Amino acid sequence: MKNILTAILLLSCASARAQGPLAQLLGGRDLPSAAVPAPADLSYLETDDRYWVTVSADDKYDRTALLAAGLDIVEIAEHYASGLIAKPDMEQLAAKGFILRGSQPLAEYARTHLKDFPASDAAYHNYAETEAELRRLAAANPAETSLFSIGKTTQGRDIWCLRINPSEKGEAPSSKPAAFFMGNHHAREHLTAEVSLALANELLSRKNDPEIREYIDTLDIYIAPMTNPDGVEYDIAAGKYRWHRKNMRVNADKSLGVDLNRNYDSRWCAAGASHYQGSDTYCGPYAFSEPETQAIRDFVLARPNIKTLMSYHSYSSLVLYPWAGLDNPVENEKDRKVFTALGKAMASFTGYKPEQSSDLYIATGDTTDWAYAARGVFAFTTELEGSSFYPGASIIARACANNVKAALYLLSVTDDPYKLAR
Ligand SMILES: [Zn+2]
Repeated sequence: MKNILTAILLLSCASARAQGPLAQLLGGRDLPSAAVPAPADLSYLETDDRYWVTVSADDKYDRTALLAAGLDIVEIAEHYASGLIAKPDMEQLAAKGFILRGSQPLAEYARTHLKDFPASDAAYHNYAETEAELRRLAAANPAETSLFSIGKTTQGRDIWCLRINPSEKGEAPSSKPAAFFMGNHHAREHLTAEVSLALANELLSRKNDPEIREYIDTLDIYIAPMTNPDGVEYDIAAGKYRWHRKNMRVNADKSLGVDLNRNYDSRWCAAGASHYQGSDTYCGPYAFSEPETQAIRDFVLARPNIKTLMSYHSYSSLVLYPWAGLDNPVENEKDRKVFTALGKAMASFTGYKPEQSSDLYIATGDTTDWAYAARGVFAFTTELEGSSFYPGASIIARACANNVKAALYLLSVTDDPYKLAR
């Protein structure tokens, strides 16, 4: 986001104390408390009808119901969940039996939880910079790479994908085992593009190291750092963070966006997603209604060689695996062993917590459930570290370094993930 002139930092609840083990596992976040003076002009948020709320929730079933009620859960503690919710959804909470413990209009929340920081977010890549970086990497490594668009977004942007494979280029099929890395399904999760780009840089800058060379020569590696570029650009337009999560579809009620990570055709919108268009967890009018998810669907279906998939999100310091949409663990015992072993191993590089996705809450229609159900892909979601969606630039180096190590581990088993079950 090098074009940001007035960037803002969410101090979030860094000074709040954790309550109980779950809060600690989830980063020790708590009710918003410490107010920080905010000199930034946040008046642009006054037209945003969302509220930051804290609602009583004792377990994952409460949280699942909250998602369906339209709450975009951002932070979880032992007895409550906090996040953003559109005003009409908030007004229905009590009638649905939820106890609202606190609420603030987004603009007010931002005023008490933000402060200015100068150009330090320049280290983040916006869409144009992401494309430029991918083009630079491709041009500098013509023997190993190719760059292509896997489809157009709602607003017509290309979803760029860097392929690292010396023998097959562009959209040519390959029989080598493939790994697919994605960032930025959710617009405001900017750190996810950084980790994806860092992985591409690591692989190509160390391409002559024997370990890396083996991955490059024997695998088919795809990296799409920004799968929701429309949303990313809107989130940072004019140097103002908007807490935007969804894509940029204009809904029938004039609200903006569909939650791409609820739009996949895997028990679509059955739980943990909202049919209300203004909700941040709006699942869309039907499964795969969005050009972005259609592009990823078609990409995966056209490449039966994809064995592993990583979708980066932020923030909670978690490594998650299917099922997200079911309470039950993955039925196939061998697959279950691979998921748990692989999740645990990747988490050892980052210090994150590995777990089945639905241990947090049940949410249907996400990337990983669909990829595993449709094609048996060992698909993971990594929720990167941080205490907010806008954690500043100082977090980038460590998050990238550790997650690149985890990604290299994923590559090390992509040839045959079942070796972890033997
Ligand atoms: Zn996300």
